[in-house]
Amino acid sequence: MTCPELILRPNSERLLLKGHPWVYSGAVSQIDAGVEPGQVVDVVSDRGRFVGRGYYNPRSTIAVRILTRDRSSEIDTDFLAGAIGRAVRLRREDPLLTDTDAVRLVHGESDGLPGLIVDEYAGYLVIQLHTWGMERLRREIIDALVQVVTPKGVYERSDVGTRRADGLRDRPTGLLAGEEPPEHIEVLERGVRLLVDVRRGQKTGLFIDQRENRALLQRLAADKSVLNCFSYTGGFSAHALKGGARHVTEVDVARDALGLARHTFATNGADPSAASLVAADAFAFLDHLAERGPRYDVVVLDPPSMVRKARDIKNATGVYIKLNRNALRLVRDGGYLLTASCSSRIEAEDFFQIVRRGAAGARVTTRIQAFNQHPSDHPVDPTFPEGRYLKAILARVYRG
Ligand code: SAH
Repeated sequence: MTCPELILRPNSERLLLKGHPWVYSGAVSQIDAGVEPGQVVDVVSDRGRFVGRGYYNPRSTIAVRILTRDRSSEIDTDFLAGAIGRAVRLRREDPLLTDTDAVRLVHGESDGLPGLIVDEYAGYLVIQLHTWGMERLRREIIDALVQVVTPKGVYERSDVGTRRADGLRDRPTGLLAGEEPPEHIEVLERGVRLLVDVRRGQKTGLFIDQRENRALLQRLAADKSVLNCFSYTGGFSAHALKGGARHVTEVDVARDALGLARHTFATNGADPSAASLVAADAFAFLDHLAERGPRYDVVVLDPPSMVRKARDIKNATGVYIKLNRNALRLVRDGGYLLTASCSSRIEAEDFFQIVRRGAAGARVTTRIQAFNQHPSDHPVDPTFPEGRYLKAILARVYRG
């Protein structure tokens, strides 16, 4: 197979040769004329060495995302079926993933398929194509998925901001193959039923990556009162109720998500009086409530990502510290804080320091008892540190 060539500037191939999948636009020396956005190119060093084959985008700061390092492999349905097959096998053979039917099957770069996300909910697939390169391979991806997974249906939720950075304007959403999923897909996660709205929900419908932290809360929730901030459709709270929590309070700005939470609790047979739902800005809510002192046994904090660019880090760190300080002020003596950050630019050590500074501000002592990253269906390729994003800390909290 012959592809157009992209030649790197001298000494720009070091990280690529180690396995990193991105060619930054600043590393490009030359490219064959007429290459279109999303087209597959061969990346070659200035000395003519083949480095890898990937898709090009002239409008992005990431000029190429590598798909293969094998010169003989053509990027077609067979190639995609092979890569998707490897990703799916990693999950199907994983003993840590037996207790759920909500699984991320393809996790972009970390599965060698940059720009592609595939989540599976009880046999239905929900996909996101984040980039021009994946957009151009749309037909082949759908064919490969149907071939490898034989799903009940394939639904698309490519309405993501990252497409804009790639110069893609349309935001496709809808059924691509098979049957229409039901209005709410019911999945089972560690003994708890969760409802997924793949049409109107955030991302692909569920934040699958918090599975283990929700299960962790289930294990420590007996007889506790729980404040669940940034609660979305009530995943953490449903697990807390399953674990015997006395009461849960949910806070989220998204009213639709709170409605689905109510539904989810009922589906799990919870007593309706055991849950209070608050539609509010959780930052302001915590600011206000923290003044009045401790009142919950457990506070959960799962805010959306607050860092898009390197220059946001300082400001976001301040916001995280205040959020954690306010949450810690609300925890009773001997209670817990379960706090997360999904910003990849906030590193693990930074997050420990955020909790330390939050605790200093709240005048409490903490003992960190668990530190988790995303679960095994969100694997990490160590050559691609940018793929590490979720951090969660469970801290026991002591006052006085
Ligand atoms: N904990 C959830 C996932 C949370 S995702 C789970 O386990 O499923 C982040 C949530 O924060 C989203 O539901 C979003 O609606 C909510 N959110 C974003 N900004 C907010 C704000 N200012 N106040 C309250 N909620 C907010």
